[in-house]
Amino acid sequence: MSDKNAPPLRERGIYCNRTLNLRSIKAIGYDMDYTLVHYRVDEWERQAYGYIRRKLLALGWPVERLEFDPDLVIRGLTLDIENGNILKANRFGYVKQAYHGTRPMDFGVQRAEHSRKLIDLAEERYEFLNTLFSLSEACIYAQLVDMLDENRLPGVIGYSDLYRFVRASTDETHIEGELKADITADHDRYVELDPETPLALLDQHHAGKKLVLITNSEWSYTRSIMQYAFDQFLPEGMTWRSLFDVIIVSARKPAFFTTRSPVFRVATEEGLLEPCSKGIQSDGIYLGGSADQVEDHLGLSGDEILYVGDHVFTDVHVSKDILRWRTALILRELEADLSGLAEFQNDQSRLSTLMAEKEEHEFRLASLRLDTMRRKVGYGPQPDASIKEIDNRMGKVRSKLAKLDQQIAPLATAAGAIGNARWGPLMRAGNDKSQLATQVERYADIYMSRVSNFLLHTPFTYLRSRRGSLPHDPGDMPLVADSVGPEE
Ligand code: IMP
Ligand code: MG
Repeated sequence: MSDKNAPPLRERGIYCNRTLNLRSIKAIGYDMDYTLVHYRVDEWERQAYGYIRRKLLALGWPVERLEFDPDLVIRGLTLDIENGNILKANRFGYVKQAYHGTRPMDFGVQRAEHSRKLIDLAEERYEFLNTLFSLSEACIYAQLVDMLDENRLPGVIGYSDLYRFVRASTDETHIEGELKADITADHDRYVELDPETPLALLDQHHAGKKLVLITNSEWSYTRSIMQYAFDQFLPEGMTWRSLFDVIIVSARKPAFFTTRSPVFRVATEEGLLEPCSKGIQSDGIYLGGSADQVEDHLGLSGDEILYVGDHVFTDVHVSKDILRWRTALILRELEADLSGLAEFQNDQSRLSTLMAEKEEHEFRLASLRLDTMRRKVGYGPQPDASIKEIDNRMGKVRSKLAKLDQQIAPLATAAGAIGNARWGPLMRAGNDKSQLATQVERYADIYMSRVSNFLLHTPFTYLRSRRGSLPHDPGDMPLVADSVGPEE
């Protein structure tokens, strides 16, 4: 991104579901963790995983040999905690891929368990992996499902019970101080710096946007992380605090967006609190509170505010649903997916050509079947060939289809491993959009891999959504009899 006039790389683009004119945005709210500040997932989640494992070990579970596997799960999958399954669904909620614990589910079992029921994320049995923070928790859950199946977890009475233990341990891990102390003691190891993020915010600040930080992290952690990630890249004498009009820590999102809660002013560096019974009265650093107090203080509401976060439910779903704020979702994994898709482009064209050929042959086979049927029963227009000749032609088409399938199979497998060898790209489930893609489409007005993608688009950009495609659009013609070539 060094040449500011060069068009953004696809990986660093801003993708638009609903048209957004940045000039009409008066305030931008930012989440911190995995949004303004990106962590090395392998390191951060491995450390969190270590603490979760330690808590389970203290319960007497034989988990000392379990290790974090950063590739076992991806964001956007759903845990079925009733059955100990991990699922990837398409936009309609149909399960397209399924693992039981860490093992791929047999196709027959998958069909029996999931083909008649669509995933409805509102049901308690489903836990959607909303953020990169979900990876450590989901990884250990999958591994423990294997152990439960081997009867190695005495006292655990099922997959839901198991999930409750994992959830409680994860919660405690994040809330207690030890993990955060490890992170702040070794910034270099855990934080992936991006010098362009502070510059992108400086542009927005000088373009007259009010900037607000709204993080669930506590004050001491926020201060340490923001100082490290921002101050070294800001102009001399400026600190991260001067970029923001209002800073809110321990925000308790999603409740922050839905209920009115008391707000406190962070009065000292050590985090001493002062109550603010009248809400947010001036710019500064606060703890708790709620979104309507931010709106009141800024004198802004709804579509004048853009909120940028990484948590699909907490940051974009709720702020969009309840407050109608404009929303941006940060999906760092998009970069690996997009570069994987770019590398696969030639193979993708070949795959599309082969699939078009396959469709033609399938249509040919179906027509020959119909000919046989009409010939045998003796109705309708009669084919010009005998049953034997038709059989012969069908045999030839079948062998062509078999050859095509041999060529298609390895390409389809490779396409399904882009981004993650087990689960494939985030936003696709087979040929269709994934359930994550649908959530993104519904609740995020825009999405991008990182906040600094704003840099090249400037604070004045007009982001227009593309014309949505429909199956009957010209260019995607249905197969008709005429398009089938002559018989040989
Ligand atoms: P944000 O993304 O800036 O709002 O901050 C996320 C904060 O929530 C971080 O401090 C995380 O450690 C914390 N967090 C993430 N997952 C959990 C959880 O499951 N329970 C409690 N806190 C969590
Ligand atoms: Mg976050």
